[in-house]
Order: sequence, then structure tokens, then C-alpha cells
Amino acid sequence: MCYSQSQLKKKIASFRLSPERRFLRVEKSCQCDIAGVTLQYIFLGNIILLMATYVDRKMKTEPIEIDTDSRVASFREEYRSAEILPGYRGWRHFATTNAIILAGVALCVWYLHGVQARELWVIPLTFVYSNISEYLGHRFVMHHPRPGFGLMFKRHVKQHHRFFTHTTMPVDSIRDFKVVLFPPFLIVFFLLGFGTPLALLVGYLVSVNAALLFVITGLLYFLNYEYLHLAYHLPEGHWVSRLPIVSRMRRLHQAHHDQSIMTACNFNITYPIGDWLFRTLR
Ligand SMILES: [Zn+2]
Ligand SMILES: [Zn+2]
Repeated sequence: MCYSQSQLKKKIASFRLSPERRFLRVEKSCQCDIAGVTLQYIFLGNIILLMATYVDRKMKTEPIEIDTDSRVASFREEYRSAEILPGYRGWRHFATTNAIILAGVALCVWYLHGVQARELWVIPLTFVYSNISEYLGHRFVMHHPRPGFGLMFKRHVKQHHRFFTHTTMPVDSIRDFKVVLFPPFLIVFFLLGFGTPLALLVGYLVSVNAALLFVITGLLYFLNYEYLHLAYHLPEGHWVSRLPIVSRMRRLHQAHHDQSIMTACNFNITYPIGDWLFRTLR
């Protein structure tokens, strides 16, 4: 079909809806804001699930050599001399993670404007979405070598799971934070590589405020992930790991660190929603 120049301009203008109009259009067709936002999240969630299914079919498993406590002790020495530089400071690593995440949160809060009640649904949906992503990422990417994600596999299976087993969970010193916390460059890589495109998509499909709430929730979820994972690997008896909810979830993560079952259960580091959903909770 051919359009005249003025018809074409009208056609293009009809697609240029403001974020609010776009949201209202969803509202009109679905008769309900919640349904509109939920449908959009289901769409995003399905993309991830389809990817996971594809990855699952191509999955390769490697024979696992179980580490004894003495092998863990010698691996720890080897890891420290090869990977932890003399200038490394655990507290500085922890502070940098907090600074990156909290700066991102502050920036997004600054840009929020006139948030409507219906946009707040993005918060619980992003929480569940992050939980499922955490589960799938840990189960299908961190535990199996994938093209482009070799560093993740190396850091997780070859280093983290050999440094900590279910019988040797605590760090020996604050310098061992290196093997628990994500390196800052990987945080920035994930923010730019995965967070930004998804935020732009949410911004396009829902509204600018929804995109900002998506980023804020995602960032705080990640920080919560780092806090909890660090708490599980603190020395035995530390007051943080004795907090009721932390000690309960620590037991789940401790079971995951058993090398004989690490590819089978407890893939959520935080709240075991994904494990419950996919029946891998032990
Ligand atoms: Zn761990
Ligand atoms: Zn693992």
C-alpha cells in the first residue's frame, strides 16, 4: 500500500504516543492496569524461560571431583596467592558494590516524577522476575560452561564452589570477600548489558516511571543478594548469620555447596521462590 507524504506523517504520529497514553491504551484493552503490566512481564519472563529451555537441551555435564577439607585448604592457599593481589581490601570491595548500587538507586529516585499507584505494581513483579532470573542464571549459566559466559562458570564452579563446600562454608578473613562478592566491573557489565535494554523495553511498553521502578527494584534486589550471600559465608556464630531468616536460608545455600548435589538443588541464593516453582528445593 502506498501513502502520500501527509498520510505517512499522520501514520507515524499515531505511533508516537506519550508513555502515559501507551499505559492508558493497555488499560483500555485489558480493562485493568494490573493485568496490563502483568501481561508485559509475562512476555519478558517467557523470553527468559524460552532461552533457559534452549540452554537446557544443549546442557553438558562435567564429571565432578569431590573436594575433601584438606583439598579445600590447599585450594584456598592456591587461590589467594594467584587471585588476591596484595593491595586488595575486602571492605573496599564491599563499599564499592554499595556505592555503585546506591548511586544508581539515588539517580533513578531523582528522576521519578508523579508516580501513580498503578505503576507500583512494577515493584513486586520485578522482585519475582529478579528471583526467577537469579534462579535460571545460577542453574543454567553459572553451573555450565556457556559461550561468552566462561568467566561466570570459572568464578562460580571452579573457584567459589571449590573455596567453599558444605563442610567449609566460612571465610577465613575479610580478604576472602574476593571469592564471594561480584567484581565491580561485572556489576557494571550486567547493568549496561542486561539491565539497560530491559529498562528501555519496560519504559517503552509501560511508562518512564515504571522503567525507573524496575531499575530501582532490580538494583536493590542485587544488593540484597550480595548481603545475603556474604552473610552465609561469614564465620560460624557471627551475629548476622544467626538472624532467624538468614540462618534458615544459609542452611539451603550450605546444602547447595555440597559438590555432589550442587547441579541439582537450591539455586536461589536469596528467597527460594524459583526453587519452589521448579521443584529443586531441598
Ligand atoms: Zn556460596
Ligand atoms: Zn552454585
